[in-house]
Amino acid sequence: MSSDPSSLQPVQRCANQFVCDLVAYEPGKPIEETARELGLDPETIVKLASNENSLGPSAMAQEAMRAELSQAHIYPDGGGYKLRSALAKKYDLGLEHVVLGNGSNEIIELLCHCFLNPQAELIAAEHAFVVYKLMATLFGAKYVEVCDPDFIHDLDGMAAAITEDTRLVFIANPNNPTGTYVDEHALDRFMAQVPDHVVVVFDEAYYEFWQDAPDTLKYIREGKNVCVLRTFSKAYGLAGLRIGYGLAAPGVAAILQKARQPFNANAMAQTAALAALEDKEHVANTKAMNDEGLAFYASAFEARGLEYVPSVANFVLVKVGDGDAVFQAMLEKGVIVRAMRGYKLPGWVRISVGTKTENERCIEVLDEVLAS
Ligand SMILES: *Cc1c(COP(=O)(O)O)cnc(C)c1O
Repeated sequence: MSSDPSSLQPVQRCANQFVCDLVAYEPGKPIEETARELGLDPETIVKLASNENSLGPSAMAQEAMRAELSQAHIYPDGGGYKLRSALAKKYDLGLEHVVLGNGSNEIIELLCHCFLNPQAELIAAEHAFVVYKLMATLFGAKYVEVCDPDFIHDLDGMAAAITEDTRLVFIANPNNPTGTYVDEHALDRFMAQVPDHVVVVFDEAYYEFWQDAPDTLKYIREGKNVCVLRTFSKAYGLAGLRIGYGLAAPGVAAILQKARQPFNANAMAQTAALAALEDKEHVANTKAMNDEGLAFYASAFEARGLEYVPSVANFVLVKVGDGDAVFQAMLEKGVIVRAMRGYKLPGWVRISVGTKTENERCIEVLDEVLAS
């Protein structure tokens, strides 16, 4: 591979400009990479950067995957029948409402495939999950960002931003990286203002962590053009397998089904997800760990006079001064958090809630870094 930038120019000239202009998504820094670069023992590194489940995958999911290994030569069920049926049953919906994705991120992409074009607009909040903006850009559409005072989606402002060209509105609830939410009353008022040519997407990646999550499936039952995104990556601890789903109005789901690859949800992921759905204890333990962790961080930040954003998800945003510097200094001490410059929040870092030991280590290292 050539690193000479001049050699890239001819190919950049024939690529779509809006793709060349993209700043690629920067994921949380992996443990192995950190260990390699800093000469640390990977065993000692604490990663609190990608909102993963520190309890790991459910034992039931692991067992199901082991049993599935010998079938790896067979294509997956492209229709995802068992998993979609289980999800439909869980939510009292039909098969026609359920779409599987290679992570719920893929469903975000499918929505953009189906509804965006260079004339179309996508509306999201100023500090919303950054993938919406990346995808809108990738499809050459207009990305409309609505201010979110105090980091909370301004749904009236978002409704007012809808035009004839609006096709998608994304509501991340709770939002990543802020951990903030909008309640059912605000959502009802918003939904009453949305015209028929707009699909509203509720991104509920952290649904299982939030006691008082509003019922957005009712909009599906009411026949509205909505898609609710959920995932096995967070509370279910299966981020590495890439499996998520959309629950949508049948009309929306049917269009999404046309846009996906025939085997987008791999066999191992389908098997693991199906088993994980049954492991209610694992999800309950995860939620209990998270509740305790959120309370721990809140009181730790308060005791230190650090500004933070109260969260109903499995991470928390905290103001530390120079976010990049704090990220780097903590990294060198073996704790990986997430710098927030990409979200135009250079003074903040986002910390995922881990186990009690991980959370305590994180605050210990944060103290050392802020003291120096
Ligand atoms: C983590 C996350 C997702 C998706 O994760 P997948 O692993 O692709 O399922 C989607 N939306 C938000 C807001 C997230 O934080």
